[in-house]
Amino acid sequence: MTRCRLCGSAALTSVVDLGATPPCESFLAADQLDLPEPAYPLHLRVCTDCWLAQIPPLITPEETFTQYAYFSSYSTSWVEHARAFVADAVRRLDLGADAFVVEVASNDGYLLRHVVDRGMRCLGIEPSVNVGATARDAGVPTLTAFLDPATGSDVRAEHGPADLVVANNVYAHIPDVVGFTRGLRALVADDGWVSIEVQHLLTLIEENQYDTIYHEHFQYYTVASAIRALASGGLALVDVELLPTHGGSVRLWARPAEVAGEPTRRVTDVLDREKAAGLQELSGYTEFSSRVAKVRRDLLRFLVEAAERGETVVGYGAPGKGNTLLNHCGIRPDLLPYTVDRNPYKHGRYTPGTRIPILPPEQIAADRPDYVLVLPWNLRAELVEQLSFVHAWGGRLVFPIPELSIVEVKA
Ligand SMILES: [Zn+2]
Repeated sequence: MTRCRLCGSAALTSVVDLGATPPCESFLAADQLDLPEPAYPLHLRVCTDCWLAQIPPLITPEETFTQYAYFSSYSTSWVEHARAFVADAVRRLDLGADAFVVEVASNDGYLLRHVVDRGMRCLGIEPSVNVGATARDAGVPTLTAFLDPATGSDVRAEHGPADLVVANNVYAHIPDVVGFTRGLRALVADDGWVSIEVQHLLTLIEENQYDTIYHEHFQYYTVASAIRALASGGLALVDVELLPTHGGSVRLWARPAEVAGEPTRRVTDVLDREKAAGLQELSGYTEFSSRVAKVRRDLLRFLVEAAERGETVVGYGAPGKGNTLLNHCGIRPDLLPYTVDRNPYKHGRYTPGTRIPILPPEQIAADRPDYVLVLPWNLRAELVEQLSFVHAWGGRLVFPIPELSIVEVKA
């Protein structure tokens, strides 16, 4: 990578190099264990001109998303999040019955079905053929396409400009930020609104969530760099909300620059926090890589010492992001003989790169290990509760991030 994909500058500085890893959702079946496994570098850099943090776009969205396996409606919490969002947006923007809402990366229609329910006009734009077909079956009009300026103009010409364009959990997944943002501008009415939810680099860095860096996320935004990204397509940020989703996300409310006016106090407050965290200079980034290195040293030291004491450690969970952690730390079955997961699809499969077997959750109670290493560590409160049964044999829980901590659960 030689140029920043947002501003074209060559001033890209290393933030953290996590080595080369396979795509984090490429779980292996048993018959794949003797086959080669491609690994791609996972090296985060920041542009010191526009401060967009980015990794090279090695796995294209076309590869990832044209037959995407993830259906948002499987997650009840996402469906509720979407319902609440639509209700809030209708109130906030005073959308009437004749309003037109477009969602980009609309998945299986989990969000737009709430717009359909209100009798309002909508259109989903979804690249994945099979997921988009599910949305159409559920009564949500959906176009199979990636958003670029041409798609945006075509939709506007056919359906008219959109009063609201929603782009949730997609702004990190598109290597062509500028083309995508111009596409948003083409879709939205000249006095309309764009709402974007995306992971927040401030919380990623503050809470050491380096395992949320993976190949499908090409860029990582502060509100400051998001403002520049929006401007590249003629949009301006008006308001921001901080959300707990994905460990810390922002909801950006933007409008065409001509009508946007001054940003709210909430925007300037977040910008101040980002500045105080050193994210508009190199200091905030250089310190991050040493904290990431410490997670690896602490976790490996713990696993090696437990093994030498003859104590057993098994994993809990096989989330995609767990694979960034396992691969970066170089943890294989000699240190972690297996992990368990609630998703039956993963049972009998192996973690990408590190090839740790994934078993059903019942295995933990059968084996009574001394420690359970929790890979979805961000669900700490929920999992301390859910895994409290390890108390029965004096087992303990290990959370690797934000820093290694060993938790004695209560009955
Ligand atoms: Zn740049």
